[in-house]
Amino acid sequence: MPEQNETTSAKVALVTGGSRGIGRACVLRLAQDGYDVAFCYASQSEAAEVVRKEAAEYGTRILPLQADVASGDSVRALVKKVGEELGSIDTLVTSAGVVRDNPLLLMTDEQWQQTLDVNLTGTYNLCRAVVFEMLKRRSGSIVTLSSVAGVHGTPTQSNYAATKAGIIGFTKSLAKEVGQYGIRVNAVAPGFIETDMVADLDPDHKSRMIERVPLGRMGKADEVAELVAFLASDKAAYITASVVQIDGGIVV
Ligand code: NAP
Repeated sequence: MPEQNETTSAKVALVTGGSRGIGRACVLRLAQDGYDVAFCYASQSEAAEVVRKEAAEYGTRILPLQADVASGDSVRALVKKVGEELGSIDTLVTSAGVVRDNPLLLMTDEQWQQTLDVNLTGTYNLCRAVVFEMLKRRSGSIVTLSSVAGVHGTPTQSNYAATKAGIIGFTKSLAKEVGQYGIRVNAVAPGFIETDMVADLDPDHKSRMIERVPLGRMGKADEVAELVAFLASDKAAYITASVVQIDGGIVV
């Protein structure tokens, strides 16, 4: 069980994009670890309610909230609400993300901008909004979601890969800035994980992707959440500014 903080009976985690996929798995995993968990979603309130019910089975407080991570105002309101309802945030997981794939020649300005706004600016907005309280308390852990696309690049994903590479630079820089105040910041870079984000891929393309994975399958959201929960916890007390790949050894 996480240690208690001064305002609540359990540590408090905020997960973005918690209604589905990797974010959902993180909400469940952190609740299982005894955290009170707030999570945000963009629009799918029914999916969020299902996650709330599932996570509440672990006996901690679960708080779903609609928010647009791309908007600074929305994120500040989100963090304020979490503070009022659950207490100061000990752990932040930034999982909200979108893909808008297209070859560069066909990419629209909107596809480029939306991807940057949600993935990269969204990560900045969240970290910016929580870090002051963490600095005051001289503790906290942040886990950002990058991608193997950000490490190696992927055709038709120049926008997405730029955001995921940007998240790596952002994460390492922030970790170096706040490590002296007891705050750890790490990135997880998943490979090919079975979620809605990849559900619409053409089956042939999917098979070709799986052929490049030495472990011979897609990853599961639960497997990513296990790593996120470890990095967020005191078990990872000496790990910061790291990018941990979880990709079945994918050859890119
Ligand atoms: P997903 O299943 O598509 O879920 C995306 C989540 O983000 C949903 O909860 C969605 O809310 C939320 N979201 C989207 N835009 C938002 C916004 N503007 N404000 C707030 N929430 C927003 O995605 P996933 O596959 O779990 O991916 C999670 C993270 O892992 C992403 O950052 C992704 O880039 C990264 N990743 C995924 C893979 C993969 O293979 N799946 C690989 C590498 C990295 P709604 O439900 O309301 O729409």
